[in-house]
Amino acid sequence: MLLTQRLPEPYRPEAAIVAQRLTSLGQALDWVAVARVAAPWVQAVRDNPPPFWAMESLLKEYPISSAEGLALMRLAEALLRVPDAETAIALTADQLGRADFEGSSDKVISRLSSTAIALSKHFLPTVGDKTGEPGLLAKLGARTVVAATLRAVQLLGRQFVLGQTMAEGMSEAVSAKKKTPNLRYSYDMLGEGSRTDADALNHLKSYQNAIAAIATTSSPTRACEDNDGISIKLSALHPRYEYAQVDRVLAELVPRVWGLCEQAARANINLTIDAEEVDRLELSLAVFEALLAKVAEQCPQWRGFGLAMQSYQTNAQELVQHVIALARQYKLRLMCRLVKGAYWDAEIKRAQELGLPHYPVFTHKHHTDVSYLACAKALLESPDALYPQFASHNAATIAAILQMAEKTGSPFELQRLHGMGEGIHDEVLKNPQIACRVYAPVGAHKDLLAYLVRRLLENGANSSFVHQLADETLPVAELLVSPLRQEPHPSLPLPLALFGTQRPNSAGLDLTVPAMRDSLLAAYASTQVPSVPVFDAKLVSGPLSISTSSYKTWSKIPVTERAATLRQSADALQTQLPQFCALLVKEAFKTWNDAISEVREAIDFLRYYAAQAEAIMQPQTLPGKEGNTMLGITGESNELFLTGRGAWVCISPWNFPLAIFTGQIAAALVTGNTVLAKPAEQTPGVALAMVKLMHAAGVPEGALQLLHGPGETVGAALVAAPGVAGVVFTGSTQVAKTINRTLAAKDGPIVPLIAETGGINAMLVDSTALPEQVCDVVMQSAFRSAGQRCSALRLLCLHEEIADHVIEMICGAARELVVGDPADLATDLGPVIDAEAFAGIQQQLQRLDVEAKRLPAQSGKGQAATSKVANLIAPQAYEVANISDLKQEIFGPVLHIVRWTSDPLKVIEQINGLGYGLTIGIQTRIDSRAQALAHAAHIGNVYINRNQIGAVVGVQPFGGEGLSGTGPKAGGPHYLYRFCAEQTITINTTAAGGNAALLAG
Ligand SMILES: Cc1cc2nc3c(=O)[nH]c(=O)nc-3n(C[C@H](O)[C@H](O)[C@H](O)COP(=O)(O)OP(=O)(O)OC[C@H]3O[C@@H](n4cnc5c(N)ncnc54)[C@H](O)[C@@H]3O)c2cc1C
Repeated sequence: MLLTQRLPEPYRPEAAIVAQRLTSLGQALDWVAVARVAAPWVQAVRDNPPPFWAMESLLKEYPISSAEGLALMRLAEALLRVPDAETAIALTADQLGRADFEGSSDKVISRLSSTAIALSKHFLPTVGDKTGEPGLLAKLGARTVVAATLRAVQLLGRQFVLGQTMAEGMSEAVSAKKKTPNLRYSYDMLGEGSRTDADALNHLKSYQNAIAAIATTSSPTRACEDNDGISIKLSALHPRYEYAQVDRVLAELVPRVWGLCEQAARANINLTIDAEEVDRLELSLAVFEALLAKVAEQCPQWRGFGLAMQSYQTNAQELVQHVIALARQYKLRLMCRLVKGAYWDAEIKRAQELGLPHYPVFTHKHHTDVSYLACAKALLESPDALYPQFASHNAATIAAILQMAEKTGSPFELQRLHGMGEGIHDEVLKNPQIACRVYAPVGAHKDLLAYLVRRLLENGANSSFVHQLADETLPVAELLVSPLRQEPHPSLPLPLALFGTQRPNSAGLDLTVPAMRDSLLAAYASTQVPSVPVFDAKLVSGPLSISTSSYKTWSKIPVTERAATLRQSADALQTQLPQFCALLVKEAFKTWNDAISEVREAIDFLRYYAAQAEAIMQPQTLPGKEGNTMLGITGESNELFLTGRGAWVCISPWNFPLAIFTGQIAAALVTGNTVLAKPAEQTPGVALAMVKLMHAAGVPEGALQLLHGPGETVGAALVAAPGVAGVVFTGSTQVAKTINRTLAAKDGPIVPLIAETGGINAMLVDSTALPEQVCDVVMQSAFRSAGQRCSALRLLCLHEEIADHVIEMICGAARELVVGDPADLATDLGPVIDAEAFAGIQQQLQRLDVEAKRLPAQSGKGQAATSKVANLIAPQAYEVANISDLKQEIFGPVLHIVRWTSDPLKVIEQINGLGYGLTIGIQTRIDSRAQALAHAAHIGNVYINRNQIGAVVGVQPFGGEGLSGTGPKAGGPHYLYRFCAEQTITINTTAAGGNAALLAG
């Protein structure tokens, strides 16, 4: 099912949107008056600084931009979850050691160990209690600093959690209300988004229990807004809360949330759906509307349902208008929270990664503020539809809201996060007419981490109000300066300008945006895979002689002109991205996301090699200059030239039939060589389309010829043919060796070979890693593209202490993956490339069934799908006893898992021992360990704390060592040199009688 888009496309130019927001605000605000109201609040907070252990104080002393602040954040994120003492000690030593906690900064250690321990005695359990994990604390007790750090982190966490249980949280709330009667609470159950259905059901249970608990204190007769309420995250309630899974989400998630709504309506309490990432917004709105319809039908008297809206989104105002219209349409009064937004950094990164035309969020802080105020105005003007809840810790924002609310006279409440902005809110709440709801996280310390880091980042950002409030050097007037102005340009380069003026980034698509998605679906309907005639291997001498003679002219063309044809090809490919994606889906069974990434990679190769060739192929005078002085012996000139070598054979694989195919031929052509391209026999159609595109862009037909046919015949004949100047090959190690032997056996010049081959790629995970993050990267690395990437994860090495938990999560998440027709947007894994590959993998699975322990990674649905689409293999996982049990790469969605203990360097040694060296993932929060492991690994591409696939051209040059290839790395600065011959020309400039230049000087 495809959703109709409710809001405008989120990727639009920022300046025009801000101008519109300013216009909609008009003269609504008198900022001088706003600042006048807010200034005494600020002064009062500055006059009564919070205690040392409060977040504001810590961040003031150790900002996250400093090594110390970063160390504290890292520790806060990871330390509490580390189950084993050795690793906890290593993590603490690493983080405290890398920051400057010596000399004048010694205060951190002394304060952590004295103040934190002393304070924590009041709050925290000591050795041997439920939460403190006895073994760990007891062992760490010997190391005072480590123990102090652990306690300090727990203390820090406690700043933000109202209680570890609802009972504890509610009793805290009762005490706080005694002090400040105009407080209300919205409880939030801590925890990461669900990766498995079991997680989702656990979250559901905890929301149900929380609502039941809140219901005991709520009153059916009081206005709903006067009761405490609950905030829920939809991503916690479904393991695949993603746009692509819309059918499942509507069928499975809506009933779960509806149950909670009914419960909340019966208790007459507010239930707010938290706002999450922009790419889930349309999906959230679909869920929200489905629920609204039910509320309108079954409990229209309930006035507590609502959602949170983020003003940093460029679509915020349209969202507000949409929700107001929905409330009126369903004749409901909603309670809606306006926030600025908590995922700004993640939104920026995603837009950059996807190569989107604009950011979906504002890039200047004051634009977010302008948007917030414009949205607030719209909310206050619609009291029939909404009861607005303004969540902010910013004194100026709050004062501006109060000013606008006074004019409209509409009811509203303020909101703040527990542990944040208390000082300002205390000042504001001296007015008993104003109510404030506290967002109150409840949960165990171990579930606090992600939430805590969000808050640390939020408070630590230089632009954050809370951060600036703590900076007493910043004058109050500056802190409260009016945001009501517009910047003409974004504060960051747009995603397409990330690589500077050297080359434009390739543009991608966001499949959640109909206009972007529709172009792909239209192309799919109209694109045919061309049939490509098979070349007769006996006739290779013909194309070879064309190639050799074409070399004579093509190599003489200036490099700038050759580069221009590549750039033209890139532009054409960018324009035809939907058609090439469709071809990739049809011929290579790529999923849509994989297809987009692949076309973008091909575009990047073309542009990157064009720029590289222009840079390296300029004549270079040697030995060069120092300042203005020419170095070297007088009376002679020396120049170094790079030239092409001749006719290259380019043999590419089916798993990247466009990107690798294009990368190889672009590199050869731009350096002045001619090309005989032999694509994989499974994917000649994509290759033919690309060759045609390049011919149309100006590459002569003789310089680029396509010879389609089996590797054993056409490939072998090309490699063996006399006169070939070089071979570039991507494929199996075995075939690379055969090619190498053939070339070595030939008479004549020694022919260079660039071989990029496979790998048994491992990922090492220690016990500091976040299991959810590990699970995400394993799903992507092992199963994306049905495991048919040379970079794919094959061997996951898990620390014994976390292995059971992580394996359970991985298997649960793998069971949620959708296997099926790749043209279906919901599909995660399409079929493997052909029946032969399928049979080969099945054979390996049969072997593994005997030799290893099969893990339950496959769902019944996945199994059922395999009977409908040919060559489908659902995700597979096996536990093996030893790393050395892996003898060869299985090129499919098959993951091996092994457990390890003690020294992680020993694990790396064993991985090195496999002989392959393509990619490795390292998951650890111990930075020094990550570095040591990376340098110990004889592996070409090392990825720390991320997935290990999807290398970006010019950013992560790709290629391995050992059994994984010869290098140089594709998409890197050294690649083109291997395609070139070098020539120096030395001229004796004194030959004609004497050294005129010397005498003249
Ligand atoms: C009760 C409550 C509930 C919340 N629920 C949610 C929720 O459901 N979803 C959610 O996402 N957040 C939620 N938050 C978090 C909220 O988004 C942040 O607390 C809020 O952004 C802080 O705003 P401020 O006015 O206190 O601080 P300020 O410091 O005035 O503003 C910070 C905001 O500016 C943005 N910003 C910083 N730099 C830039 C820049 N260069 N360009 C553009 N914008 C920038 C930040 O991303 C942030 O949104 C909630 C907060 C509260 C208080």
